[in-house]
Amino acid sequence: MITFEEIGIEERLVKAVADLGYVNPTAIQEKAIPVLLSGTKDFIGLAQTGTGKTAAFGLPLLHLIDAAARHPQALVVCPTRELCLQIVSELELFKKYMTSVHVLAVYGGSSIGMQIRDLKRGVQIVVATPGRLIDLIERKAINLEQIEYVVLDEADEMLNMGFQDDIEFILKNTPKRESTWLFSATMPPEIRRVSKRYMKDPVEVTVGQVNTANKNIDHQYYITSAQHRYETLKRLIDFNPGMYGIIFTRTKADAQEIAEKLTREGYDIDALHGDLTQAQRDKVMGDFRERTLQLLIATDVAARGIDVKDITHVINFELPDDIEVYTHRSGRTGRAGNTGICMSIVHSREIGRLRQIERIVKAPFHKLEIPAGKDVCRKQFFHFMDRLLQADISHGFYESYLPMLEEKFAEVSKEEVLKRMAALEFDRFLKYYENAEDLNVRERQREVRERVPGGREYGNRGAGGREYGRGREQYGNNGGDYTRLFVNLGTKDGFYKASFLQFILDMSELRKDVLGRIDMKEMNSWIEVDRHAANQMIRAIDGKKYKGRNIRMNDANSR
Ligand code: AMP
Repeated sequence: MITFEEIGIEERLVKAVADLGYVNPTAIQEKAIPVLLSGTKDFIGLAQTGTGKTAAFGLPLLHLIDAAARHPQALVVCPTRELCLQIVSELELFKKYMTSVHVLAVYGGSSIGMQIRDLKRGVQIVVATPGRLIDLIERKAINLEQIEYVVLDEADEMLNMGFQDDIEFILKNTPKRESTWLFSATMPPEIRRVSKRYMKDPVEVTVGQVNTANKNIDHQYYITSAQHRYETLKRLIDFNPGMYGIIFTRTKADAQEIAEKLTREGYDIDALHGDLTQAQRDKVMGDFRERTLQLLIATDVAARGIDVKDITHVINFELPDDIEVYTHRSGRTGRAGNTGICMSIVHSREIGRLRQIERIVKAPFHKLEIPAGKDVCRKQFFHFMDRLLQADISHGFYESYLPMLEEKFAEVSKEEVLKRMAALEFDRFLKYYENAEDLNVRERQREVRERVPGGREYGNRGAGGREYGRGREQYGNNGGDYTRLFVNLGTKDGFYKASFLQFILDMSELRKDVLGRIDMKEMNSWIEVDRHAANQMIRAIDGKKYKGRNIRMNDANSR
């Protein structure tokens, strides 16, 4: 077996790893270190956490940097604050005999002022999370001009968390970069793309088994109609009483509206979207982390980079526009060896998109029935009873009340006490779900609907069912019956397709189901809208102002 001396790292490092009790290099260290010591080679290491990859890049970095120069020479980018701190503490151990080398962790959620001060003191190795690093770059508080080595650690996690653009930005802003070392547990196509674009003939090393998909996530979907999405969401939450989850919507209006509605109905939920100030955002995230909130509802942009441990469920209130975003969303659960569930509420027309996503995720999707009202009640009931049995009474606080309780309940049987407790907790659920309708869209219904000409979707709303978006027109199953509208807004107004979509839906208070194809040009756009909804959209938008300019919207065919 090869030793650390034989592998070529300098003496002070050999001594430090010996102090740590490392006898021989691990597989990734043995394969990576000799390549990385050349200092000019790009490298891809496919290795999981726990294989010793921190030392695999950390030892060569410490070996290569010029300790006499006091500017940042190496940059390690990693997805989370925890990992950032962990890497720094390992590097500190390795550099035990290299006192003039300084390593600094920069990550979000702690004082940026302090980090800027520490940077000024002169550090050679910076370990950073992408968001905070970009912040520092934009404030011109960090000089990447002389960075020679960039390490991307847990690259797949960073992409899952939506940091792709940030990583590209960082790579573009390190002009003197000689080596890029990328470590990842999986090799999704996005990583291949990054490596093709930013690395030169990388040496690729694989250690152990490389997962193509996160096997810890169970992907489930539930088919319902557009007008039952909200009710379905509620039912999924109620059916999973231990849920600690994130719900994703496409628009911030949806995120806000659903959060408000669920809060009114007694759920511990808050929304995260682009309209919040940093302080509001921190408050929501703090409440969610501390579990004061059971649920967080967010748009993709707002959820970018959030890293919360032990998320049990991710719910797609709607599938994302961009199917690749699905992996970012589902990746919020099933982390660090835990299992997780990603649920998608879909319309029958979206099955095709679901199949495309299935191919990207490389895992099978399971179709599940939306639970019936009585199933929800049963689940809640047993959950409550389990909690009752598990309640901690070891502290003895209630001993002094016992005589009084015994007297008060002298005439009441144990069965009756249990029933009364159940009534207190469950009457709300029982009443609500008493006449609950079946929210599943079943094959037979779909067939019938498809035979109805111009088939507008029908609901099977029962007497007890609540409505969502009452007063709004909703046109789910359009069957291609669209009116083409012209609008004098385009990419020149700063819109992308997604932001434009959100803008017109927010203005017109319509749901995205009414939309067909959108054709955006620089100055003007053409939008297909369900013919029943077209007038509502024109009324809401035509004549309004955008950045001081009058918006014109009309039927494209009547111009
Ligand atoms: P990592 O994959 O970098 O998170 O490392 C996993 C664990 O393995 C850490 O606790 C390291 O301290 C330890 N470790 C790394 N390299 C070696 C080695 N060559 N011999 C023994 N333990 C090691």
